[in-house]
Amino acid sequence: MSTGLAARLAALPPMDVAGRAGRLRALLGDERVDGLLVTSLTNIRYLTGFTGSSALLVLTADDMLLVTDGRYTEQAADQLGASGAPARLEITGTEQRRVVAEALAAAGRVGLEAEHVSWAAQRRYAGEWFPDQVVVATSGLVEGLRRFKDEGELARMAAAAEVADAALAELRPRLLDGPTEAEFALELDATMRRLGATRPSFETIVASGPNGARPHARPSGRRIATGDLVVLDFGAVVDGYCSDMTRTVAVGDIDATAARMLEVVTAAQAAGVAAVAPGTEAVDVDAACRQVIAEAGWADAFTHGTGHGVGLDIHEAPRVGTTSDAVLAVGDVVTVEPGVYLPGHGGVRVEDTVVVTAEGCRPLTHSTKDPAP
Ligand code: ZN
Ligand code: ZN
Repeated sequence: MSTGLAARLAALPPMDVAGRAGRLRALLGDERVDGLLVTSLTNIRYLTGFTGSSALLVLTADDMLLVTDGRYTEQAADQLGASGAPARLEITGTEQRRVVAEALAAAGRVGLEAEHVSWAAQRRYAGEWFPDQVVVATSGLVEGLRRFKDEGELARMAAAAEVADAALAELRPRLLDGPTEAEFALELDATMRRLGATRPSFETIVASGPNGARPHARPSGRRIATGDLVVLDFGAVVDGYCSDMTRTVAVGDIDATAARMLEVVTAAQAAGVAAVAPGTEAVDVDAACRQVIAEAGWADAFTHGTGHGVGLDIHEAPRVGTTSDAVLAVGDVVTVEPGVYLPGHGGVRVEDTVVVTAEGCRPLTHSTKDPAP
């Protein structure tokens, strides 16, 4: 393992977890809610540092309460202590409804996270938990805060990207040995874990030859052969934060169409990255990619959006696509990942994850775009 990478993984800088509750609280007035019940585990992690698989979080003007069960007594206390989040902790399996209702008793209007509450749960909250209060749907409050990464978060994402870069650098010559897609995907996943990833950030995509025409192909038993383009889309998780990168590798001699696809998509991707800057509308980043591909005559072969935010989730705000209404701002972390997919022939996608900075953006992913294995 690169000693630099190991050292960076061992000494990740702190994140500003403690300040997040205050920033969320500042939004409650605009939402006209007196208290918020946070049910998304990712959002609870963001606000408190707690990583368990079951919890509820109550936020009001003067209180934050994390409720979880006996499996997490020690972990929850440790993680709240480590993050410095200003939250009380209640451990209960059976009394969660009572504890939460008490914490929100003075709230006339109780906000729920609309994107994270099922229809059944909404009925339960409105009918049984808060029968005398107004239950209000809120949307994207914590996700809006999560868009803008602090230095500690960026360090984790950079480390995750570095793990993925190192894994690919180590393994790419093996594409010449004729592994199956599934074998190569397994090697990538194992190598990322060996280099310090908690896990892959999503199911690794290894799509060779004609399979590359399917943007989200699953690794198959197909053996990678000379003349193939191989789309490799993968990422690592470090301390909860994801990386995301795609490279398309050309194994041996490729035909003229494949070479042209590589050239066009690489140019489109560079145009998209060049467009990323604070104040830029996400639709314009999408358009910058799309224009290069359209000029090559392949407008219809670019069948998905240009990118997405990345963070604790592999896909988060903001979206970068033809219908996005986001305006990029400093601290946003987004992918730029145009592709061209020709059914029966194959596909090319090139993806970097970039941080929006005052000057424009800087990439977190650094693997070479030279298509040689
Ligand atoms: Zn990706
Ligand atoms: Zn992506």
